[in-house]
Amino acid sequence: MNQEYPKSSIILNGQTAVVTGGSSGIGAGIARALGEAGANVVVNYSSSREGAEEVVAGIRDQGGQAIAVQADVSSESDVEAMFRKTVETYGTVDILISNAGVQQDAAFTEMTLDEWNMVININLTGSFLCARAATREFLRRGMVPERSSALGKIIFVSSVHEIIPWSGRVNYASSKGGLMLFMKSIAQELGAEGIRVNSIAPGAIKTPINRETWDDPESKAELLKLIPRHRIGDPVDIAKAALWLASDESDYVHGTSLVVDGGMILYPGFISGG
Ligand code: NAD
Repeated sequence: MNQEYPKSSIILNGQTAVVTGGSSGIGAGIARALGEAGANVVVNYSSSREGAEEVVAGIRDQGGQAIAVQADVSSESDVEAMFRKTVETYGTVDILISNAGVQQDAAFTEMTLDEWNMVININLTGSFLCARAATREFLRRGMVPERSSALGKIIFVSSVHEIIPWSGRVNYASSKGGLMLFMKSIAQELGAEGIRVNSIAPGAIKTPINRETWDDPESKAELLKLIPRHRIGDPVDIAKAALWLASDESDYVHGTSLVVDGGMILYPGFISGG
């Protein structure tokens, strides 16, 4: 969280990005990187107005354009209002970073329907609502070849848990597993329209969502055993990947999950031969 946001050669001047859950953690990191690259950034938040305003101020301090917009991504009317506000302010949307997500852990037999629904509604249904609104706007606006070779770019922030099962968190793993096939299905459906759709699947990244793991030395040591690269990731690691996926540098990358996890999905239990 304390890494600098490096100047990138990627330029997104004139493009507008909506970043959901942009008030903290990975979303804040991506919002800053997009702002640094010249995009107008809509920093979405659900409850943390101060967090979102801080990210907006950081982008403006660098000479960029940004606004904070409140919306619960699991609410259809909030999402529609957020996209209307974006179009009113910046004219259109070019990039969606669907990042908002939550965890609500419980043993399977103890998990309540509310705990199940909350995670599915925000992580999966929220991604559906935001991607649908972004796609409708891309199609309404039409191609602007001098801005991008794509009609629009959609990037979901998924998780290594779209691949790795996760005991005690079946709601979360199901939401991310569902997100993987949602992403691939709309990539199949929208590719011919010029809309590029991909995911980033982060491993363990130091953010508020997993503070109890990296804040506690014993848990941190256990976590590091699962990461061949032997460090916990930083939001900037994900921001760099998002910047690339949002740019024409990745023009032929479509319908894929870019895993950014320090090797977490490499079966680290086999490092010593299994
Ligand atoms: P975080 O808690 O800092 O960020 C989550 C963001 O989502 C917050 O800004 C929160 O306000 C927002 N949010 C929650 N509910 C919302 C709602 N209903 N509407 C709008 N926004 C809402 O944690 P993070 O680690 O930055 O998580 C960001 C994404 O990255 C999540 O989708 C998470 O599943 C994913 N992820 C994180 C890690 C990790 O190790 N940190 C690993 C894999 C995937």
